[in-house]
Amino acid sequence: MINITHIKQAQERIRGMVHRTPLIGSKTFSHICKNKIFLKPENFQKTGAFKIRGALNVVLSLEPPKGKRGIITASSGNHGQAVALAGAISGYPATVVMPKNASAAKVDAVQGYGAEIIFHGTSSMERIDRAEEVCREKGLTFIHPFNDPLVMAGQGTIGLEILEDMPQVEQVLVPIGGGGLISGIAVAIKETRPDIKIIGVEPEQSNSMYLSIRSGQRRELQNIVSIADGLKTTIPGTNTFPLVRKYVHDILLVSEEEIRAAMMLLLERCKLLVEPSGAVTVAALLAHKVAPMGRKTVAVLSGGNIALRDLASFISENP
Ligand SMILES: *Cc1c(COP(=O)(O)O)cnc(C)c1O
Repeated sequence: MINITHIKQAQERIRGMVHRTPLIGSKTFSHICKNKIFLKPENFQKTGAFKIRGALNVVLSLEPPKGKRGIITASSGNHGQAVALAGAISGYPATVVMPKNASAAKVDAVQGYGAEIIFHGTSSMERIDRAEEVCREKGLTFIHPFNDPLVMAGQGTIGLEILEDMPQVEQVLVPIGGGGLISGIAVAIKETRPDIKIIGVEPEQSNSMYLSIRSGQRRELQNIVSIADGLKTTIPGTNTFPLVRKYVHDILLVSEEEIRAAMMLLLERCKLLVEPSGAVTVAALLAHKVAPMGRKTVAVLSGGNIALRDLASFISENP
């Protein structure tokens, strides 16, 4: 289990290699939801999402002989890009197992960082099995997208930055997929300032953490449909679930419509291009799911990677 020391170590390790994202105050959102809103725009992070923080923390912790054998993961999304870039930065060979039907843009991004791609199957189960096979054969290091303690600690550096920039913060909203991001942020903040509330947000149709917390054990979902592709995790992590239980005050659920509306307003008013997974926090605020108490509130915008074609279709579906 990770603690605040692991997150401070991660901060030292990755310092200068990732962007220090700012906090941006928003009058528009503050007015609409009657809280004082500040955005943490990880869509401006390297690779366009926060996941480089965790991936780099793993890679920079490896003994060089182990690192030189290589790193591998099975993600087609932001984590795949993060592992590819972490490999490029460290000089360790990176392999990303992607589905045969991966979009050209995602393939180009991973290839652009110099990673090797293995195309395999179409489901995440098939990909993970293949990655584990290659990992064993070649003695590589597997980097899990959310359940690895070093990954969680890397993501937690966002929490330290929020405390540095705004010690008066009262509540922090964080998207939940497998729970690595919120676990890291919650440890960073709660073990420094237990009075600050950490609130998670999930899509209504991808609410495995919500259901797990409510029932007291990890619950698995099947056939998830949501535009928030980075949050479509079927089951919370064995390491993330206990930390969410311990530190997270509440989990809010947002509809697909609410996510779309949030993306549009972020674009129109703040000029911020945020992907659906990153916009769920603002979606919860706009839908008045956070009490209107004038609280200093930080909403983490976790990423901004979205194909323009998908963006266009969201806009045209929006009334
Ligand atoms: C991965 C991801 C998340 C979810 O992070 P977890 O650690 O799986 O909870 C949220 N937003 C974006 C943009 C992501 O890429």
